[in-house]
Amino acid sequence: MNVLNTFENMGKCICYQGTCATFAQNSLSGGLFCSIARCAESLEKRGCVCDSCLIWHDCGLTELYYCAQGSEGR
Ligand code: SF4
Ligand code: SF4
Repeated sequence: MNVLNTFENMGKCICYQGTCATFAQNSLSGGLFCSIARCAESLEKRGCVCDSCLIWHDCGLTELYYCAQGSEGR
């Protein structure tokens, strides 16, 4: 299922809520990468918490590291 780029979904995204080491250690900005696209910054993978996110479960997502690889299905 495609993840809609909505204000509500951005609020549910846990990328930027303090538990993702990849987000913190790469000083990323933004979120909802499973909907929008990969982030602009180059990054080192330090773990991904997407599988603890309500959106990941509700939308039937299967992948991780959307910040690095882009949105689901790309
Ligand atoms: S699945 Fe990952 S990228 Fe998508 S909203 Fe949740 S934490 Fe953010
Ligand atoms: S997609 Fe995964 S690794 Fe990237 S910032 Fe979100 S939770 Fe962290």
